[in-house]
Amino acid sequence: MASYKTELELRSGEILKMAWEAVIGLEVHVQLATSSKIFSGASNEYGAPPNENTCEIDLGLPGALPVLNEKAVEMAVRFGCAISAEINEISIFDRKNYFYPDLPKGYQISQFENPIVGKGSITIEDEAGAKKIIGITRAHLEEDAGKSVHDLVEDRTALDLNRTGTPLLEIVSEPDIRSAQEASEYFKQIHNLAKFIGICDGNLAEGSMRCDANVSVRQRGESSLGERTEIKNINSFKFVERAIELEIERQIDVLEDGGEIIRETRLFDPDKDETRSMRSKELSDDYRYFPDPDLLPLVLSQAEIEKIRSELPELPQQRERKYQTKFGLSSYDSKQLSVDRNKSDFFEKLTEASRLPKLSANWVNSNLSSLLNDKGLGFDQSPISPSLLAEVLIRIDNGTISSTSGKTLFRAFCETPSEISEIDDRIDEMGLRQIGGTDGLKDIVLEILKEHPNQLAELLDGKQKVLGFLVGQVMKKTNGTANPKEVNEIIQNEIKKE
Ligand code: ADP
Ligand code: MG
Repeated sequence: MASYKTELELRSGEILKMAWEAVIGLEVHVQLATSSKIFSGASNEYGAPPNENTCEIDLGLPGALPVLNEKAVEMAVRFGCAISAEINEISIFDRKNYFYPDLPKGYQISQFENPIVGKGSITIEDEAGAKKIIGITRAHLEEDAGKSVHDLVEDRTALDLNRTGTPLLEIVSEPDIRSAQEASEYFKQIHNLAKFIGICDGNLAEGSMRCDANVSVRQRGESSLGERTEIKNINSFKFVERAIELEIERQIDVLEDGGEIIRETRLFDPDKDETRSMRSKELSDDYRYFPDPDLLPLVLSQAEIEKIRSELPELPQQRERKYQTKFGLSSYDSKQLSVDRNKSDFFEKLTEASRLPKLSANWVNSNLSSLLNDKGLGFDQSPISPSLLAEVLIRIDNGTISSTSGKTLFRAFCETPSEISEIDDRIDEMGLRQIGGTDGLKDIVLEILKEHPNQLAELLDGKQKVLGFLVGQVMKKTNGTANPKEVNEIIQNEIKKE
């Protein structure tokens, strides 16, 4: 027999949940977009045939020595500067020892006590839309391991070592996150920022960014932390949110039933919609960390750090604020425009040339975005240049063409770009120049009114709804070249006369 919970039981369940608070810390692994590996010259490109992108260093052959990739260091520092973190002038590479078939050397080179990037922070928006600062404990450089492929050969595990030695930046947060939604928001922020500053391609499906979520719960008002579990290897914003939600629920249930949370590593299974235990958590002692004798301490000078800092582009949150204060754009539009570096750069060039920030914002966020989306292109590959598009917007703004014609012209220019000096000829060739009152527009309006006596009668009856229909008919007749505002005025004048 099905057992239904009484209303009282349900309500007391809710009250109990309110008594709990979730505490979450994320470890985000970012694959750095270098052309070669972190300690070897093998290619770091994704998608090569299995084991093609490997050399004696990645395979851990005896006697092969690692050589640190300068570009990976530069990218780590760039990230550190972008989150205003301390950059450590001296950092150390350590060996993290463990056995797994996809780790041929028997150890992973990582940074343990002396990471390259120290304390910093990331600002997110919480559920109520308020700004919230999430502390970053550290970010360190390490090499990725290879991949075990379990479904290629029957009863066997295949190994693809292409990923071995891919440079990773592991970004560790403080346990400052308080909900599944905040965690997903934080992961998104890191994703956007890493793409924006060009250190990662951000391709989640290819595993370019993954995170481990550390989750615990405690009684609200309690200041010490509860025992935590760690959910490994999550590679989507949606999954982070769901995995944490499930884990919070599970921990509360265990504790409310008088049980205990065990420190363990768990796995999220999106198909079964559950997290389950993978293994008991290994402590850092288990890894026998020690400085890698093959690598010298990494020493950076203040001058090198400052050079990287000075080359940082203006960051998304700064741009977002600028668009609101300088151009008066809405916070929604400003955010939309500043997440993607190429989009933001396009918008800034367009606005500089057109001096029409609002119209530019609308066009970039709508017409241009959907065109590029359809063609599968990025904003850096736009078939229309910002300066040419600016000329179209200027002509819409000063009434030379209607906004409908503006779209026609835009599509035409995306197919065959025009010299700026020839734009007006193209407008005339295409018959797009807007018809105003002096150009016989009134005659066309009168003709339409004559052709639609029923609608005219309705309009005279006060049914404003048909006005749109009649204006639409005029637009159709003039192939979109009429100025809708003028058409409106002419019709209003006519009905006043009747
Ligand atoms: P480990 O060595 O096991 O990876 P760390 O101390 O480096 O552990 O912490 C890893 C992550 O776990 C960090 O993001 C940290 O904020 C988070 N964390 C630590 N303690 C807790 C806790 N009690 N509840 C939730 N998250 C925690
Ligand atoms: Mg960890």
